[in-house]
Amino acid sequence: DEIYQISRWGENYFSVNNKGDLCVNPTQTNNGPVINMMEIVEEMKNKGISFPAVIRFHDILRSQVANLNKTFRSLIEEAKFTGSYYGVYPIKVNQMREVVEEIVDAGAPFNYGLEAGSKPELLAALAMNSNQNSLTVINGYKDLDLLRLALLGNQLGRKVIVVVEKYSELTDLMKLSQEIGVEPMIGLRAKIATKSSGKWASSGGDYAKFGLTITEILQAVKYMKSIGKEHCLKLFHFHIGSQIPDLRTIKDSISEGARIYAKLYKEGAKLEYFDVGGGVGVNYDGTRSNSPSSINYTTRDYVADVVYILKQVCDLEDVPHPNIVSESGRAITAHHSCVITNVFGALEIGAADNFNTDKAIHENILVTNMRDLSTDLNAKNYQDVYNDATKLKEESISAFKFGILSLDERAKLETLYWRICKKITQFASLDEYASDEILALKSQMASQYMCNFSIFQSAPDTWAIGQILPVLPIHKLNEKPTELATLVDITCDSDGKVDTFLSPDGPTNTLPMHKLNGDDYYIGLFMTGAYQDIMGDNHNCFGRLNEVHIFADDDDPTDFYIEEVIMGNKASQVLSTLQYNPETMAQTVKASIDTQVKRGKIRPREGVDLTDFYESCLKSYTYLKK
Ligand code: PLP
Repeated sequence: DEIYQISRWGENYFSVNNKGDLCVNPTQTNNGPVINMMEIVEEMKNKGISFPAVIRFHDILRSQVANLNKTFRSLIEEAKFTGSYYGVYPIKVNQMREVVEEIVDAGAPFNYGLEAGSKPELLAALAMNSNQNSLTVINGYKDLDLLRLALLGNQLGRKVIVVVEKYSELTDLMKLSQEIGVEPMIGLRAKIATKSSGKWASSGGDYAKFGLTITEILQAVKYMKSIGKEHCLKLFHFHIGSQIPDLRTIKDSISEGARIYAKLYKEGAKLEYFDVGGGVGVNYDGTRSNSPSSINYTTRDYVADVVYILKQVCDLEDVPHPNIVSESGRAITAHHSCVITNVFGALEIGAADNFNTDKAIHENILVTNMRDLSTDLNAKNYQDVYNDATKLKEESISAFKFGILSLDERAKLETLYWRICKKITQFASLDEYASDEILALKSQMASQYMCNFSIFQSAPDTWAIGQILPVLPIHKLNEKPTELATLVDITCDSDGKVDTFLSPDGPTNTLPMHKLNGDDYYIGLFMTGAYQDIMGDNHNCFGRLNEVHIFADDDDPTDFYIEEVIMGNKASQVLSTLQYNPETMAQTVKASIDTQVKRGKIRPREGVDLTDFYESCLKSYTYLKK
């Protein structure tokens, strides 16, 4: 736990048992169900479900929904706030039907609704959320079809609220609603001045992509009054960005938003809902600070600020307490899923240490000098030796290009060089004054553990924006890891790697790992349930992963069951999305094989086997077989 900081990012959902296996505690306590992840891996292997795979813990999803709703309810009661809480889950954070279904089901007792940001998402929300007491909130830019769909929701008796992001949407909506004779429910999104920090800060401030300026909002209220429809204005909304690291930013945004709400109320817009958007972050890097990959508050801190600040402003302004809406997505889904992959080998920098470096009779002076450096190296002079050795290596490349250094001599010189570097990293580990250059060498020299997955499919934010995700082996956690490694994926892309990890001392470039010994070694990338699950792409034609949905067994606290298996993409499925026709491909390759058979280049029996083999590869999982 100390090395991988499990308790600092895991929110008590994860623990390590005395065998050293990672376990999941869906009720956030050791007294409730405890699911051993290695037992899930075993069961998957028995069922023939190969890795990499996504494991979803539906109990965690349910628990997160209940936690948020219960926290709002209890603080609303404690504060004697007279509005209620009507949260909505933003589908875009993880649109998987099973995820949305589980959230809707777990949220039903709390009238928890959905938020949609596009036409397809609204189509999904209308089909998934039939609860007439919960909200469906629509954000994002809208065309007439989308507005028509929203009104269809109202015709079905649902509380569908169209949040106006740009002024023309309001006039379009009013025109359409008049044409078909349905009263809309309207929200106004404000571009508030409070700005967040971190990786998703551009949703706030004057230059944000979405929302109305204060001037436009006032115009909107005047317009609605002029046509006698101000009662259709139901909701006030703002959203200042995702993964807000600092609670102070949230406090500021609520204070500003609450004032605007109160003033609009007094202008005649009798708004019923105050929608604080999403943005509640999670502790990806375990620092529990206001670093970009973490947060300095708990759910309770957040909810308390929303409720108490809103109450205070409403009381001061003498306006009614509105119902509170929040659109948390990341905080609801991040913990519930992880990607499990097997490490299938290690690449060592400057490997092949067994190359013979003995002195030859006629040896190039550069090689001799490198050998002398390796003999002289000690704990005191390692920085000097590093400087000289690096210079010598550079010179050797020029000498090689001029034909002065043979291939064999170059190999000898480089073997000696990497031996020196390896020793230097050992000396540096014991030296608290090691230079930045040597520390960088240390992480460059770390082994690269080859993992059967694609970062572009399974953890796109680690590649795109340097998001840190918890990564750790899911077994052997009672054995001290002896290696430092970075992770490389199987895409043919040098970017396909993970080389920033959490550690007790903050972000670091290498991950402590166990030495590979030929046995299966499983690692997990955790907190992939928000955005990562769904934003991944098919780079290199690596498709969606196999997936299992896990529930704790109510009758046996140590048991679980796989409720559903969703098989990942086959090669043919990924190729089809790129306009290939797998049947035609198989026929074309078969025809080529037949031609070679006719020419006597391939024996007929072998021809049949090769045809079958090509077809079976088309029907196989896109990842490496293990
Ligand atoms: N609501 C809106 C309008 C958003 O744009 C977003 C995402 O940025 C969310 C809700 C969800 O935010 P989060 O996942 O940070 O809770």
